Amino acid sequence: MKTALVHSEAWKRFDYGPQHPLRMERLGLTWRLMQAYELASLPQAMVRAPEPASEEAIAVYHATDYLEMLKAANSGRAPAAAARFGLGPGDNPVFPGLWEAAQLCAGGSILAADLILSGEAERVFHFAGGLHHAMPSRASGFCYVNDAVLAILRFRARGLRVLYIDIDAHHGDGVQHAFYGDPNVLTISTHERGDYLFPGTGFVEEAGSGAGVGYSVNLPLEPFTDSDVYLPAFEQIVPPLFGAFRPDVVVAQLGIDSHRTDPLTHLALDIQGFTRAVSRITELSPKLVCLGGGGYDLPNVARAWTAAWAVLNEIELAPALPASFEADMERYEFLTVTLWDPPDPLPAERRVRAQEFVQRQIDAVRRTIFPTHKL
Ligand SMILES: [Zn+2]
Repeated sequence: MKTALVHSEAWKRFDYGPQHPLRMERLGLTWRLMQAYELASLPQAMVRAPEPASEEAIAVYHATDYLEMLKAANSGRAPAAAARFGLGPGDNPVFPGLWEAAQLCAGGSILAADLILSGEAERVFHFAGGLHHAMPSRASGFCYVNDAVLAILRFRARGLRVLYIDIDAHHGDGVQHAFYGDPNVLTISTHERGDYLFPGTGFVEEAGSGAGVGYSVNLPLEPFTDSDVYLPAFEQIVPPLFGAFRPDVVVAQLGIDSHRTDPLTHLALDIQGFTRAVSRITELSPKLVCLGGGGYDLPNVARAWTAAWAVLNEIELAPALPASFEADMERYEFLTVTLWDPPDPLPAERRVRAQEFVQRQIDAVRRTIFPTHKL
């Protein structure tokens, strides 16, 4: 199994600002944990640094006037019309190097797709990618350029059928939007319900339009959904759709803001449940591009994405975090010195509520989506 990790040290140059929850340093922390586990120099895995995507490559999806605005904002000063494009104080700040950061992220996901297309790798992980909220002419939810869409379009240009699966705690609205009418791209997103969490979408009824009806799949989740509720629900929806759609290639967004300690969301997964989901996606995928995504509790990000990279390489990791990682564990205040989380069972009534909610969603997906796929 040939694998590739797409990673750049250039993230150090960029910063959303001191108050922003998206910390670029989470990427370096993840990389150092991978190194500590000796996953950065595996014989079957190449490590590749991306080139920034050209404006032309990004314009395959994004509007030209929006890209002009991103370029103008690269100085770190907001141009007068920035707010019209979703830029400004708050979620999508204007910071120095904004356009270069977007180019690098886009370049990483395009490279990930190209490594699959050239046959150089069968599974690729670009953990700085997965910025799934960006819209054609608008920044949204910390995302400026939609690298996931650009990777999928790379495959579509070669006529491949793509399954996109998004396990971030937030709805993958930008990717759904891009392929809402396209029956050659099946999007599946599991996320905290949109009436409780940004971006406010991702209901089962959003099933696609025109020829694409039945090709946008959403599984909303109740707050406090934990791994024991999530994994059986995932199992009832995801493998049957993989089997019916039979993708040539899979793009997976692996946000870990679904974790029980994430400060921005209310789901309750643990690293074990996340890793199990990644493992199932890997088993089901003929070729696989994994992207990162949300994750605002840094120790979770490092542990989850290191565990995901081990899954892609079929390596079992020692549960105790390596001693060589100790300085980072101290600096980032790791609450656990193991890769896996200790048990932390939810009160029974919360579990029941989450279970009942997701069962209603599963039933609705079976009614609205499954008939399209003769399931
Ligand atoms: Zn998220």
